[in-house]
Amino acid sequence: MAFTLFNTLGRTRQTFEPLQAGKVGFYGCGPTVYNYAHIGNLRAYVLHDILVRALRRAGFEVTHVMNITDVGHLSGDNDEGDDKMVKSAEERGKSVLEIADFYTQAFFNDTGRMNIVRPTVVCKATEHIAEMIALIERIEKNGFTYVAGGNLYFDITKFPSYGEMALLRMDDLKAGARTSVDENKRNPHDFVLWFTKSKFENQALVWDSPWGRGYPGWHIECSAMSMKYLGEQFDIHAGGIDHIPIHHTNEIAQSEAAINPPGDTTGKKPWVRYWLHNEFLVLDKGKMSKSTGGFLTLQSLIDEGYDPLDYRYFLLSGHYRSQLQFSWDSLQGAKNARKSLLDKVHALADKADAPDSAAANSAGAAKYLETFNTAIEDDLSTPRALAELWGLLRDNTVDPAAALAAVFDMDRVLALGLEAALAEKKPAEDENLAREIEGLIAERAAAKKAKDFAKADAIRQGLKERGIILEDGPGGTAWRRL
Ligand code: AMP
Ligand code: ZN
Repeated sequence: MAFTLFNTLGRTRQTFEPLQAGKVGFYGCGPTVYNYAHIGNLRAYVLHDILVRALRRAGFEVTHVMNITDVGHLSGDNDEGDDKMVKSAEERGKSVLEIADFYTQAFFNDTGRMNIVRPTVVCKATEHIAEMIALIERIEKNGFTYVAGGNLYFDITKFPSYGEMALLRMDDLKAGARTSVDENKRNPHDFVLWFTKSKFENQALVWDSPWGRGYPGWHIECSAMSMKYLGEQFDIHAGGIDHIPIHHTNEIAQSEAAINPPGDTTGKKPWVRYWLHNEFLVLDKGKMSKSTGGFLTLQSLIDEGYDPLDYRYFLLSGHYRSQLQFSWDSLQGAKNARKSLLDKVHALADKADAPDSAAANSAGAAKYLETFNTAIEDDLSTPRALAELWGLLRDNTVDPAAALAAVFDMDRVLALGLEAALAEKKPAEDENLAREIEGLIAERAAAKKAKDFAKADAIRQGLKERGIILEDGPGGTAWRRL
């Protein structure tokens, strides 16, 4: 199997060839844990997940590294604004570490519910300060830095290919308007490697360093941690498109400044070979943003009656490089589609004794699997892959056992929980029933509180007639089937 990936570096589709045969080193920028992930952020992690699942299914051994940003990320990616973690901690009256722990857990709770596989390595910025300092020392030794106003800066003019991936031109950057209010910067696009002069009083997290007591700039953590776990050169790096012009541009500059001998621009070793960027999920009102508030979380979709996998289905229905517009109507469409998908899989399972993997590759199912694989290998085209899954499920000529095995094989990438759904009998119906009963229990409790015992009894009796028994106990009311 050969994958073609759209590489932002060079903006072309390229055949994927790993540095080491059969192995893939992949780094995806992780969350800044000062708030819940919004559903736009989750789009980025679903892309990482599809990439990792597809590569593993194709036989690659993938090491997937993800950082947790718990220090140094300012509200503007260009060193401007408030420290996101400190601000959130102050607003909530908690310590920075408490905030980080809480939202890290919430993040993995969300990704778990969306069937996003946990990365091989999850690394926290605050636990890798020594690696960041060591990397900054290399950048400094190679002559790319200057100290101004107590902070250490990266001088972009020393790195001739600065901005190449983002298609920025050095002349434009130098001539550009001063966007930064940091007067210490020689060039507005220079960026901080290490802060000692904090803009924030009582900065909670500071460390000793050769440049004084302080804390790292945001970008350096990704370079330091990816190199620690994947080596100085690795295969794939991913993130949202917002990271192209600043964060990833700076990651490339500082990493390649560190790993290449000073002055050597001809035989320059690239740090990362393939860069993948997901387009944004947008709301009717425009971009969704964590720092400006007013965003939707996975929990808010669940509260409206949607399953996290309905949202996953919705995301897969768009290609990761196309902007996707979120609306409740389209989420409902995804929910309906997933429900009929599950119904079809149930129907297939009723016809087949057991999935027959051998037949999946030989009988009528094979052609669907092949086109499915082609779609996934073609820059991870999940919309086309979903269409193949549907084609297979609608094709009555395919032997059910073979079809079922092929469906499960496809779901190793899509991860819509199809195999797990079979283990439970008609899960959607069960869930609806449970939700309805919980609602009636709450209604009965309210009726009792209001001393409307006739209504409370009627609810209990009504459920009994449907074979549901209510049992009152000290912890509340539980229910069971007769
Ligand atoms: P953050 O936690 O803010 O660092 O963002 C986590 C990831 O989500 C990054 O890869 C961002 O590029 C990505 N991202 C942020 N907003 C959106 C959005 N509306 N749609 C898709 N991806 C996003
Ligand atoms: Zn990063």
